Amino acid sequence: MDAVRATAADVYGLERWGQRLLTILPSGEIGLVNPLNPDAAPVALPQVVRELETRGIRAPVLLRVNAFIEHQLRAINEAFAGAIRAAGYDGAYRGVFPIKVNQQAEVVDRIVRHGHGFGFGLEAGSKPELLIALSRELSPESLVICNGIKDAEFVRLAILAKKLGIHCVIVLESPRELETVLAEARALGIDPVLGVRVKLTRRISGKWAESSGDRSAFGMTMNQVVDVLDRLKAEGLSHCLTLQHSHLGSQIPSVNEARMAADEAARVYVELVREGAPLTHLDLGGGLGVDYTGEHKASANSINYSLEEYCTNLVETVKYALDAAGVAHPTLVTESGRATVATSSMLIFNILEATYYDQATPATAEDGDHHHLEALSEIAGYVSEARLQECMSDATWYREELRALFRRGQIRLREIARAERVFLYAIDRIKRVAAQAEAVPDDVAEALEAHADIYHGNFSLFQSLPDVWAIDQVHPVMPLQRLDETPTRRAVISDITCDSDGKIDRFVLADGVHHALPVHDLREDESYYLGVFFVGAYQETLGDLHNLFGDTNVVTIDLRADGGYDLVHEVEGDSIAEVLSYVEYDPRDALDAFKARVEARVSEGGLTAAERRELIALFKDSLSGYTYYEH
Ligand SMILES: *Cc1c(COP(=O)(O)O)cnc(C)c1O
Repeated sequence: MDAVRATAADVYGLERWGQRLLTILPSGEIGLVNPLNPDAAPVALPQVVRELETRGIRAPVLLRVNAFIEHQLRAINEAFAGAIRAAGYDGAYRGVFPIKVNQQAEVVDRIVRHGHGFGFGLEAGSKPELLIALSRELSPESLVICNGIKDAEFVRLAILAKKLGIHCVIVLESPRELETVLAEARALGIDPVLGVRVKLTRRISGKWAESSGDRSAFGMTMNQVVDVLDRLKAEGLSHCLTLQHSHLGSQIPSVNEARMAADEAARVYVELVREGAPLTHLDLGGGLGVDYTGEHKASANSINYSLEEYCTNLVETVKYALDAAGVAHPTLVTESGRATVATSSMLIFNILEATYYDQATPATAEDGDHHHLEALSEIAGYVSEARLQECMSDATWYREELRALFRRGQIRLREIARAERVFLYAIDRIKRVAAQAEAVPDDVAEALEAHADIYHGNFSLFQSLPDVWAIDQVHPVMPLQRLDETPTRRAVISDITCDSDGKIDRFVLADGVHHALPVHDLREDESYYLGVFFVGAYQETLGDLHNLFGDTNVVTIDLRADGGYDLVHEVEGDSIAEVLSYVEYDPRDALDAFKARVEARVSEGGLTAAERRELIALFKDSLSGYTYYEH
């Protein structure tokens, strides 16, 4: 077992980024660990995939593991409770889940259920999200926090929620919004429960830096906050202001940035209390990050802190600031979305085929070939560890010269084709020697990554991994099987869309992020599955219909205490008819039009009646089928 762990885990760095939710089994397969029952035998992931396929649920499939959501919810709540106890903080912790991070009913309902005992609530940033929040069975202690730009109807719903016993806070984003709230409250004759969203002046680094500081699109500057307070006082409604909110953006890379923000937020809190606002809640927003690369450093896809450090630092920072001013400790609220759900889902897809950028079969120049081709041909004979760089340079040089000759009409098609084969054979030799070498020069390693294979995956990046495309998000990717074999090839992963952006070319490995993924040779009779991990946050509804690839199949499983698993929920992916209707085609009309065309050909004698039957059946089957490659 230990030896197996060493080979496979070392390559992909699973031990670093896997958060002990994933492991490598002696069978060479990825196992799902039950974090709620760590003694239970892990569930072999390829086994789950095989059993889904037997049921007709084919890849690509998004697999959600309930236990991972429950575990993470508990971890966050327990870490805050622990930090509060250790610091002697007098307030409680009341987290809320920001619905925009994953709006799927299956996910939100799990969070509501598992969060009940912790008084965990929901954050809504839009009217549809508010309707979701108001219709869930939250515990009486739970908060519903309303952020975002709100119209009169949004505000009316949020005010009326009070009548239902829901602790629903309207967080004012602007002085204008206050006027809407005042008008609605007056009309309803109900005092609203209010918060103010304050723009902190300190900015965070990372991809979401724009969400912090003066120029962020949300919240109010200090002078606007003062205006709002004065306006509330003038209306005799200052007692309604009970919550202060700030949110700095997602995936805060460094714990000291979170601490700086908490410190400034606490200072504002103190001042607002001194101004007479009866605040009881301090909401520090989202931003708790996920260590996607396992590097534990302050960078775009990693973080330099643990959950416990995050909680301890926020609690202590707020406590110091309030104690210094003699202000009572408020209930602490955070809105951690990414950290709650990122780990809970994975995208699983099969590899359809590979394009190789080397060839193992020897190839040489023939009599009469250009002398550059002869020179290219000789390289394979002198590849050695000491001459790796020289061989790489020679191969690149002669291939370029030969291509130039071809472009000028000086060599023919078959000769340039031979040149390609000879080149690919030389690359194969270089790759093999490099794989065994003690040290490979950086330039050679980089050049070899540029000659990585392309593995074509059955998925759409635009539909299933939009952040990989849009903001260079790095998710851990690795094969689900054969992890007891050393992967012999390096590949980039291309998706099934006809778009050259549809590829994954940054991979988390044991020693950092690389441009090629170690993979195994494909076998004729065997599916080869890759998993993209930690895709539970933001990916599901941000995706689009590029090339009309629709939603994938989605399956939720429960991990049982006895080591088994149960399939608890399944959503079939979009059919072709569904995606056609999304772009305003009527599938019925399409079928009728096709039938008419076919019938016309039958009348002309160009098709037989039997061919007609077959064609129509095929069209119908396709309409009701999956948008992805079916095998
Ligand atoms: C998006 C958002 C969050 C969630 O942030 P995470 O980094 O996913 O925790 C929280 N609060 C507000 C106001 C947001 O807009």
